[in-house]
Amino acid sequence: MTGKPIVQFKNVKKSFGDLEVLKGFDLDIMPGEKVSIIGPSGSGKTTIIRMLMTLEKPTGGEIIVDGENLWHMEVNGKLVEANEKHLRKIRGNIGMVFQHFNLFPHMTIMRNCTEAPVQVLGLSKKEAEQRAVQMLKKVGLADKVNNYPFQLSGGQKQRVAIARALVMQPKVMLFDEVTSALDPELVGEVLQVIKDLAEQGDMSMILITHEMDFAMEISDRVAFFADGLLMEEGPPQELFNNPKSDRLKSFLQRFS
Ligand code: ADP
Repeated sequence: MTGKPIVQFKNVKKSFGDLEVLKGFDLDIMPGEKVSIIGPSGSGKTTIIRMLMTLEKPTGGEIIVDGENLWHMEVNGKLVEANEKHLRKIRGNIGMVFQHFNLFPHMTIMRNCTEAPVQVLGLSKKEAEQRAVQMLKKVGLADKVNNYPFQLSGGQKQRVAIARALVMQPKVMLFDEVTSALDPELVGEVLQVIKDLAEQGDMSMILITHEMDFAMEISDRVAFFADGLLMEEGPPQELFNNPKSDRLKSFLQRFS
């Protein structure tokens, strides 16, 4: 993986009131790279990707997506606070899949997948439907276009949520513990879809996961966060087989 990073975190800090959740970390994600974020509950993992989605604003540092500063933009040579248009443009590069699917319950699977490309990207209904069918095929659900979310299993709903994000053709996909709300027997099918995507694509992926075997298999790099810090990062074999910090050693023991 060469070229310029698609995402850069530079000394990024985040506090909620007195609670210092992230104390300043640097992390670059390269185009096509798959990076898993692991760490104990409350270590700021979700906050990191919420900041990337512009749902939370960092209290320090910079986040740069595809060369553009997320929260600042240049006007007449000066850096000023980003406006909604700037944020929307950057957000267009990023797709997100949530823990709880967040499908629109009153819309068919097809409409769930075509609403944003029509409304946000301005595609025609026909173009959006073609893309949706293509992506639903990828996740093995092209036969469900006329169904409603309540007619699907949790695993199927999550696969629709993945297809819906793919329809927007993002450069970066964020997956936030996408299997943690699923019954154990449905986890495998969702992980398989993500693995297939990872193998196919030039798309970068950032995954928060508690599935260590999955992280090991899919990731180019794993980043371990704890106590507000990026404690260790590197190739999965290195992190999982040869953890350096006591913090990571004790974290991994929970999964062995
Ligand atoms: P993780 O994903 O690693 O479990 P989170 O990023 O969800 O961690 O949360 C990190 C910490 O920040 C937690 O202590 C959480 O309670 C706190 N937190 C997250 N979002 C908010 C918020 N909007 N307001 C106040 N505290 C928050």
